[in-house]
Amino acid sequence: MQTARQWGKPPSCLITGGTEWTARDRILALGHQLYEAALCPECGRPKRVCRDPGMSGRFTIHSEICQATAALQQHRSEPGYQPTPGELLYAVPEDTGDGDTDEDDQRYGGPPPGLFDD
Ligand SMILES: [Zn+2]
Repeated sequence: MQTARQWGKPPSCLITGGTEWTARDRILALGHQLYEAALCPECGRPKRVCRDPGMSGRFTIHSEICQATAALQQHRSEPGYQPTPGELLYAVPEDTGDGDTDEDDQRYGGPPPGLFDD
């Protein structure tokens, strides 16, 4: 559903390649909307779970570090750093020599070229 939404296409297009919205697509989209509305915007879990008083004390905390965010925060905290108006900073992984390229990393943003060409 998220991919179909991101691509601006009906969900069935991911299977059939069609571009017309069907009744099934509309039902899927509405169901997904209901699903998302039931999720907590803070933690992403179903509200019935994270807001249940019976769950108090039943969560454990885990920690992970986003290395890209850490690199951006470190860059911004360097002495003398002044953001340029309109500056957009983003972290790009260095070439690790594993054959992956930046082009590979960016390939998931939209439908593959030619998918919807008729
Ligand atoms: Zn929550």
